[in-house]
Amino acid sequence: LYDNLTGLYSRNILDARLREEFQRARRYDLPLSALFIDIDAFKSINDTYGHAEGDRVLAHIGRFIRDSLREVDFPVRYGGEEFAALLVGTDAEGVPIVAERIRLAVKSLEIDECTLTVSIGGATIVPSADRKSSDFIELVDRALSAAKDQGRDNVVVRNSDARPAASPERSA
Ligand code: GH3
Ligand code: MG
Ligand code: MG
Repeated sequence: LYDNLTGLYSRNILDARLREEFQRARRYDLPLSALFIDIDAFKSINDTYGHAEGDRVLAHIGRFIRDSLREVDFPVRYGGEEFAALLVGTDAEGVPIVAERIRLAVKSLEIDECTLTVSIGGATIVPSADRKSSDFIELVDRALSAAKDQGRDNVVVRNSDARPAASPERSA
């Protein structure tokens, strides 16, 4: 249920929770957002300061993520130096605000004069019957890749909020 090192939720319950939140959002017509957070150049932290220090950094960043979220949100250690968060009821306007909060909190953590940074991908969806949670996760994942490609230490947000436009034939 929980990840030992960070105290966040572990990845294996993310899917179940995502499906639950997807259903809830669909039923009440609410937005659902998510973030993927990946520590930049984390391998070099381990290489330079050792694995134990790397573990401490992971625990700190886990705390920053949790402290940046609301009670209803769902922070997860996704794997190694990757984290995820479901932002329940958060719309597209809220996503970059939360993501920036996390990005800046991490930057305040210094090890010897080195600044740590993270790259963050985010997306928002208003779930409907024809939308799959797996597609949503893929969207978030692509946003993270874009954040990495654009040079790291940055936030990229994708919005799949727009509902399909009513087809002209059908509109009165
Ligand atoms: P990028 O900027 O592209 O994200 O580079 P990166 O070095 O962060 O990414 P990469 O995937 O190459 O390396 C991830 C590193 O995270 C390698 C691995 O040793 C380290 N790691 C994974 N899990 C743990 C852990 O539980 N503790 C520690 N200390 N390190 C871990
Ligand atoms: Mg990674
Ligand atoms: Mg990384």
